[in-house]
Amino acid sequence: IISSSGDQKPRILLMGLRRSGKSSIQKVVFHKMSPNETLFLGSTNKIVKDDINNSSFVQFQIWDFPGQIDFFDSSFDYDTIFGGCGALIFVIDAQDDYIEALNKLNLTVTKAYKINQNIRFEVFIHKVDGLGDDFKMESQRDIHQRAADDLTDSGYDQIHLSFHLTSIYDHSIFEAFSKVVQKLIPQLPALENLLNILNTNSAIEKSFLFDVVSKIYIATDSTPVDMQSYELCCDMIDVVIDLSSIYGIKEEQDSAAFDEISSSLIKLNNGTILYLREVNKFLALVCILREDNFVSKGIIDYNFLCFRKAIQQVFELRNKNNSSPVANVIE
Ligand code: GDP
Repeated sequence: IISSSGDQKPRILLMGLRRSGKSSIQKVVFHKMSPNETLFLGSTNKIVKDDINNSSFVQFQIWDFPGQIDFFDSSFDYDTIFGGCGALIFVIDAQDDYIEALNKLNLTVTKAYKINQNIRFEVFIHKVDGLGDDFKMESQRDIHQRAADDLTDSGYDQIHLSFHLTSIYDHSIFEAFSKVVQKLIPQLPALENLLNILNTNSAIEKSFLFDVVSKIYIATDSTPVDMQSYELCCDMIDVVIDLSSIYGIKEEQDSAAFDEISSSLIKLNNGTILYLREVNKFLALVCILREDNFVSKGIIDYNFLCFRKAIQQVFELRNKNNSSPVANVIE
């Protein structure tokens, strides 16, 4: 998916009505803002191109549109905006009346689909922290049903929408972003396979490949993800980066808190071990294993080195046939 401007970076578009939470999502996921601080964010009233590509593995741009964008305004270049985008995230405020949001969703999705049939449409049913479990499920069912009906009515029942329940007050927003990003990574099956092999050979329970800056996981092994394990691994990254920033950076040297010798081993008092290693400039492997199975650190260290080499080969292969949608992953 290459935009007409010739830049090969895949884009994720973040759209939705004013005050639905777009800026907050962007700040919390990519700029480490704490959720409470978003209360003071000024509302967006222009298209913001947030380029996070230099610090993150996830090579995309977020276009934050104002909620009341007028689709018939000819000053917007839709061909470029939708043509060069890999996924379109539409944010719906679940704490508000969502009828207007659903109308806008329909308008946006059909407009985008006409221009680019390869776009993935992702709907974030957002701010669900304020809702009880029953109400959450009910809202999701209702929004899903109405959105699908609207698409059928407008003659576009071939368009597929994916739905995610999200909130910036817990890890659900990171989890949802992980799923969105993973769909845009062509070598996901290869990465999953490598993680499976690593787990089997090192008695690891669960492993994630993380984009360190955003804490989005770009791949995991094929066992199911439970939120607690994911949160544990996110917390570990925070601990490692915070400690490295304080003690790991040499003065007068332009070194970063995360580099090729970054690694950490944490033993929890419930018999769990967390293991973190740097994979490349942007990525870290974080694994969870049982202390009983942790017979030798040497074995896991050795297996990790094989794993890292294989990962590098997977990405080199991609850089060679650089026609894939996600460009320039490793420098
Ligand atoms: P935008 O206009 O779409 O960019 O919306 P903002 O990001 O400015 O968010 C509008 C308001 O919603 C802010 O006061 C945020 O604090 C709040 N908000 C954003 N995300 C969440 C969420 O997940 N839960 C709750 N309860 N409030 C949120």
